[in-house]
Amino acid sequence: MRRSDISGLNWSEKECLRLLYDKGSMKPGELARALKLSPSTITELLQKLANKGLVLYERYRGAKLSEGGEKIAKKIVKKHRILEVLFVNLGLANDEACLEASKIDYLVSENLIECIYKKLNYPTKCPCGKRIPLSLSSSYDE
Ligand SMILES: [Zn+2]
Repeated sequence: MRRSDISGLNWSEKECLRLLYDKGSMKPGELARALKLSPSTITELLQKLANKGLVLYERYRGAKLSEGGEKIAKKIVKKHRILEVLFVNLGLANDEACLEASKIDYLVSENLIECIYKKLNYPTKCPCGKRIPLSLSSSYDE
């Protein structure tokens, strides 16, 4: 189960998973605009994620997360939102906190995130009101 861990992903791959987690499914063009990447880069990216078994992708219908991709995306989103709460607590504006969190969310360890989570007294929502997924390591949340 450690086969496709977050650590094996690069920045655009993880942003892609994070977006798909938020939006459900997206067309390649929508992803390209959101990530400011060219359509051909997005196609390559989606193919790579599909090969890793994280994304279900059909050229014209678009992409969505596989079950495995959903698990990994949930971890990323949890890290992202906890970092956002932290950064807003430190004085950043919401959008700045989001931007900074998206730079590093996939790089920080689960251990560090759990420490921050505890220190913040287990917030349930990010600064803009999105729900923080419960557990990082177990599969029985939700
Ligand atoms: Zn954000």
